[in-house]
Amino acid sequence: ARASRLVAAARPPLALSFEFFPPKTDAMEQRFWESLARLAPLQPRFVSVTYGAGGTTRERTLRMVSAIKSESGVDAAAHLTCVGASREEVDGVVRGYAAAGVNRIVALRGDPPEGVGQPFVPHPEGYRNAAELVAGIRALGDFDISVAAYPEKHPQSPNWQADIDNLKRKLDAGADRAITQMFFDNGDYLRFLERARAAGITAPIVPGIQPIHSFKQIAGFAARCGAGIPDWLAERFEGLEEDPETHALVAAAVAAEQVLELVDEGVTEFHFYTLNRSNLVLALARLLGVRPD
Ligand code: FAD
Repeated sequence: ARASRLVAAARPPLALSFEFFPPKTDAMEQRFWESLARLAPLQPRFVSVTYGAGGTTRERTLRMVSAIKSESGVDAAAHLTCVGASREEVDGVVRGYAAAGVNRIVALRGDPPEGVGQPFVPHPEGYRNAAELVAGIRALGDFDISVAAYPEKHPQSPNWQADIDNLKRKLDAGADRAITQMFFDNGDYLRFLERARAAGITAPIVPGIQPIHSFKQIAGFAARCGAGIPDWLAERFEGLEEDPETHALVAAAVAAEQVLELVDEGVTEFHFYTLNRSNLVLALARLLGVRPD
C-alpha cells in the first residue's frame, strides 16, 4: 500500500474542500483572504463558510461566500442551520444564497445558543432537524447539498442505529454527500463507513480533517463536539505548549499520517477544517500530490 502512494499517476485525482469561518474583525478578515489566496491555486472543489451559532453570522456568511466566488473564482458553499428561525426565515436565507449565485449548501441542524450539550429545541415554526432542512432546500431549487456525519456517533444519538438512520434520512431527503465531524482515529471513520454501507448508504462520506494548529484549542473543540482525543495523540503534544516549532512539526506529521493512511484505504475526497489558516493544509495537499495550479 505504501508503494502505491508513490505511484501518483495510478491514483484517481483527489477532490479537496476547505472550510473557513466568517471573520469577525478586520485583522481576521485579512488572514481569511491571505489564506484563501494561498489555498485557491489548489483548485478545491469548493470552499465552505460556516454559519455562526444561532444564525449570528447570517449576513457575514453570505457576504464571504459571495466574495469568494467573485474574487477568487473558487466555488463556494454556504453553511446553514435551523437554529432560532422559522422555516420562512430559513427559506429566505436559501433564496438569498440562490440570488447571490451560491448553489452549494452545507445543511445542518445546529446547536442551541446555550451550548452544544443542551437539548435542541426547534423554533415553533422551524425545521426540526437537518433532514427536514435538506427537504426544504430541495423544494426551493437545484442545490448541491452536504450534510454532517459523525464517525464517533452524534452525542445526542441514543445508539448507532439511530445515528445511521438519521444520516440516511438526510441523504434520502436529497443531500449529495456527507462530511464528517473531525476524528483522530481512522478506525472510527472506517468502521463508520462500514456501518453506513451496510445500511445501504451509497453517497460519499468525506472525512473532515482537522489539522492541529494548537492542541489545546483543538482538544477544547473536540470535547465540545463529542470527538475523542486518543491518549497517544495527547501524549504526542504533551509539554509542547511553549515550543511552537516542535508543536508545528508534530502537527504536520500527525495530520500527514492520518491522510496518507486514509488514501491507502481508498479515500479520494477530503474536507479540511482550516480555521482560516493555510500552512498545514498546504503541506498536506502537497503530500497528497495536489499541487497549486
Ligand atoms: P441532525 O442530523 O438533525 O441530527 C442531530 C441529532 O438529532 C442526531 O443525534 C440525530 O440522531 C437526532 N435526530 C435527528 N432527527 C431526529 C428525529 N426525527 N428523531 C429523533 N432524533 C433525531 N454548526 C453550526 O452551528 N454552524 C455550522 O456552520 C456548522 N457546520 C458543520 C459542518 C460539519 C461538516 C459538521 C460535521 C458539523 C457542523 N456544525 C455546524 C455542527 C452541527 O450543527 C452540530 O453537530 C449539531 O449538533 C447537529 O447538526 P446535524 O446537522 O448533524 O443534525
